[in-house]
Amino acid sequence: MGDLVVEQLSVTYDDLVALRPLDLRLRPGNMLAVTGPSGAGKSSLLWALGGAVTPAGGRLSLDGTQLDGRDKAARLGVALIPQGNGLAGSLNATENILVPLLALGTTPGEARRRTQTALELVGLQESGRHLVDELSGGQQQRVALARAFAMRAAVILADESTSDLDAGNRERMIAALRAEAARGAIVVLATHDPEAAAEADAELALDEGVASWPRPLPVT
Ligand code: ADP
Repeated sequence: MGDLVVEQLSVTYDDLVALRPLDLRLRPGNMLAVTGPSGAGKSSLLWALGGAVTPAGGRLSLDGTQLDGRDKAARLGVALIPQGNGLAGSLNATENILVPLLALGTTPGEARRRTQTALELVGLQESGRHLVDELSGGQQQRVALARAFAMRAAVILADESTSDLDAGNRERMIAALRAEAARGAIVVLATHDPEAAAEADAELALDEGVASWPRPLPVT
């Protein structure tokens, strides 16, 4: 796994500048919190990193390979957990985790094992057969996180993925994200929650698309 390198990345929607040109280098093991008020550009940054929105300008690479487009990002191991979780409501929790693994070429046996382990990690081992539409908002967030964990992603982009959780589950999920960083993933968590942000190695604050660093990344 290699560095995620962002050079002069910007996002616009017609005349609206959501993200001003940003430079960033994240190393395997880094966990970055992206903070800022609603409308600051947090989602736009995560979508651009995940290939879900085409940047207005700049370059993005992972381990030296240019990142462009959602499919390529997914193949290179970039897992985007959007607000709203991006789950298929008519599939059950297990299927939501299993299907993308199979699509990425994981063998069925391995995909089943990883799905089970990920559901256990988020405390939903009893809920695998429940349709996502039948789960609470917090449970859906945990399924979306479990899906990213099962993928063993190189980069996890989590957009407000702990906002609907009670304190216990939030701590558990932050610890799981930290564990992902410890295994060498790059974790980016957009959050309103100062306690969640404090768990990250560094904090990038956005305000009207302009970045500042309340807590810079550790120098290595
Ligand atoms: P945050 O995640 O910090 O709330 P966003 O990235 O969602 O911020 O939004 C940044 C700005 O871009 C806001 O002014 C928002 O209204 C605007 N915006 C976000 N998505 C779109 C879109 N699809 N089309 C037009 N404007 C958008």
